[in-house]
Parts: sequence; C-alpha cells; structure tokens
Amino acid sequence: MYWEAEIEQLPVGKLDKLQLDRLRQTLGRAVRSPFYRRQFAAAGVVAERLTHIEQIRSLPFTTKEDLRNHFPYGFLTVPKDGPVRLHCSSGTTGNPTVVFHDRHDLDSWANLVARSLFCAGIRPTDVFQNICGYGLFTGGLGFQYGAERLGALVIPAAAGNSRRQIKLMQDFGTTAVHAIPSYLFRLHGAFVELGLDPRRDTLLRHFVIGAEPHTEGQRRRIEELFGVRAFNSYGLSEMNGPGVAFECIEQRGLHIWEDCFVAEVIDPVTLDPLPEGEVGELVLTTLDRRAMPLLRYRTRDLTRILPGPCACGRSHRRIDRISGRSDDMLILKGCNIFPLQIEKVLMRFPEVGSNYLIVLQTRKDGDQMEIRVEVQKEWFTGNMEELEVLSRRIGHEVRDEILITPVIRLVEPGSLPQSEGKAVRVQDLRTFQEDL
Ligand code: AMP
Ligand code: ZN
Repeated sequence: MYWEAEIEQLPVGKLDKLQLDRLRQTLGRAVRSPFYRRQFAAAGVVAERLTHIEQIRSLPFTTKEDLRNHFPYGFLTVPKDGPVRLHCSSGTTGNPTVVFHDRHDLDSWANLVARSLFCAGIRPTDVFQNICGYGLFTGGLGFQYGAERLGALVIPAAAGNSRRQIKLMQDFGTTAVHAIPSYLFRLHGAFVELGLDPRRDTLLRHFVIGAEPHTEGQRRRIEELFGVRAFNSYGLSEMNGPGVAFECIEQRGLHIWEDCFVAEVIDPVTLDPLPEGEVGELVLTTLDRRAMPLLRYRTRDLTRILPGPCACGRSHRRIDRISGRSDDMLILKGCNIFPLQIEKVLMRFPEVGSNYLIVLQTRKDGDQMEIRVEVQKEWFTGNMEELEVLSRRIGHEVRDEILITPVIRLVEPGSLPQSEGKAVRVQDLRTFQEDL
C-alpha cells in the first residue's frame, strides 16, 4: 500500500514534532548562507526559540525576487564545491532561479519521487516513459531517478517527436507515462494520424501529469482519450521539482509530503495565514535540504488545504489542484481574470479542441480580449451557421464567468502555435499608456 508506511501514516502529532525538529535543524543550516545570515540577523531569528511548528509564521518570507537578487550563490550553505548538481526554473526573463543539491538532497528527492509514484499506483513492474525535457528542467532527471528508485524500467524519452514516442511505447510495452498535459493532446493527435488508438494499441494504464496548470476537465479528457487514469503531480524547481505534492489513487487532492515540507496558505495581499479550506497562496519551507534550504518560500500558486483525512490512510494533508497563480492574474477593463477560469468554461464544450489562446489587444474603443479556440475536426468542416452559434454560446458562457464579453474566434485544429515546453495561454499585445 505504501512506499514508506511509517512516515506516510505518521500520526499528525508526531508529524508536527518531526517538522519542528527538522525546521530547527534547517534554520541551523540556513544561517550559514549569506542571504539568511543577513536576514536572520535583521529579523532576530533564533532557532532555539521555536517550540511549536506554528511559530514558523514568525519567520520572514523568501521570494523569487530574493533568489534572483542573490543569484547564483547567495543561498548556498556549503562551500561551492559541496553541491553535486544544479537545476533552474523554467522562467525566461532576467536571472533564472537556480537551486543547488548535494548528495543527500538528491537522495532525499529521489525518494520523494519514488514515494509519489507509488502513491499514484505505479509499481516496480511498470515500464515508465518520461516524456519531458531533460536538462535544467527538473521533470527529466527528477522523474528519472525517482522512478529508478521505485524499481520501474525507465525510458528517458525526453520531449517531443511524437512518432518516436509512440514507437517506444509499442516496442517496450510502456504502461506508465509522465508528461505535461498540453503535450498529451498533441501526442494523441499523432496516434490518430497513424491510424492508431492508444486504448487499443498500447498497454498504457497510468499517467502522471503536471508542471503546468490544468483543469479537472482536461484531466478527464486525457483519461478518456488514452484509456488511463491520470494523476496530478505538483512541484516547483525551488522545492526540488516533482515530488512535492501528488495525488493518490483516490484522486481527491494532492498529498503534500509534510516530513519534507511545511505548507502554509496565506492571503497574497495581507500575507496573513488563511484557515484550512480557504484558497490563497501556497508557502513552502524545505525540511530535508542541506545545500540550499528555503524558508517560507512564496510559490505564487493558489490552492487550499483540503479538510479531513484521505481514504487512502496517509496522514499528510492534501492540497487542492492549483487554481491559478497570484501573479498571472489578468486585469482587463478593471476585471481580474485568471486564464484557468476561461479554460474551465471552454472544457464544458465537447466541440472544443485541446488548444486555445487568449489574446489581449488595444482597439480604438479600448482593450479587448480575443479567445482563439481550436474546435474538433468534425466540427470545423462545414456549416458556418453552426459555428456562429457555437461561438456565441461560448462567448456567453465566458462572459458569465469573467464578466467581460470576449471575441471568440474558432480556428482549425492544429492551427494555434504549440510550444515545446509548457503551453503559452496568454498573449498580451496591449499598448499601455506610456507607449501611446
Ligand atoms: P518550474 O519551477 O519551472 O518547474 O515551475 C513550477 C511551477 O509550475 C509551479 O510553481 C506551478 O505554477 C506550475 N505547476 C507545477 N505543477 C503543477 C500542477 N500540477 N498544476 C498546476 N501548476 C503546476
Ligand atoms: Zn490519499
């Protein structure tokens, strides 16, 4: 049932105690880094004063800006020859955020990923095809070492080249796959082009999907298209990468591994802690990282802690699927909009395909949102009138959700740009006041 039964079922009181012990050790290490040394001195942080895990709230936050400003070595707690690997986040502007790992960190991370995969029902007997970028992105090596630790046969397939992916699946009898959700729709298209049906022509049974926001609707669609169960995997490079929180076979929220991370949810504006069940920004602290611990890191990811125990018997609390970011909010005509709200509406329409793009533009009469939506092939060929009706229906429903009337443009399947990595859902082409 469990990868590490004792830890995964640890009673809540004991988990708190373990967290406190590990937090104090982590503070003892963190103070050796230039950044935390200064921050602790300024804020008067003393590890010994913490007697209960909730007192973590007295510590200052760490932000992505801090990481960028102290790039590359400002958070390192050991001499530069201590770490054995580094990874970066997938951000593209300015300094990337870099995280260094020593041997212990890599070992702990591999264990967390093995635990996560086991929790989602993957077993040593599985053939696991890891379809994502290897290299600086953490999904490649993160899942590679984790799935090896579990004992599965791992195919380091890397990203792209769908026909080759399909051949690998057929040659080696792949049963489990990790991929980002937007890619899986493309992969399915390649199956169709080859006249194949993954439900009939492969042994696939388990998917692990994550690394980008997606809705329950998208998950269900992936499950139907491939005839598999798909499990949500949450992680971020600042917290290693994959293996931070993972769905168990109940598929009701993601267990966050509380022996290795402290999870808090805060109001992103007031920064006050929020009670269980309320949506806010997830803040994470590493508890088992040595080369580069991070304290109260503001992830910008919006979620909530789900109340109550999970039927699987794990005691580690669950977070809900990520509902957006506190920093990808679009403001159009004074309305706050999250791209995922729009996606949720689009997914209600069976006629809608897998790709869409939100384009913000400045028109004579003000800023405007255009949503380009790919429709399924059978819908696109033909009747203009039906397409008109469909775009009006989508427009109304989106309006009901976001309070702004968008222009809906239905486009041919496969015609929108597809990124090699994470999907790009928003293009902001507005000209702002200073540009006029
Ligand atoms: P990176 O550090 O480049 O791997 O990016 C991490 C970010 O990807 C997270 O902070 C989230 O915003 C996003 N992300 C990762 N996993 C998920 C997931 N399962 N659902 C939604 N967003 C995710
Ligand atoms: Zn569970």
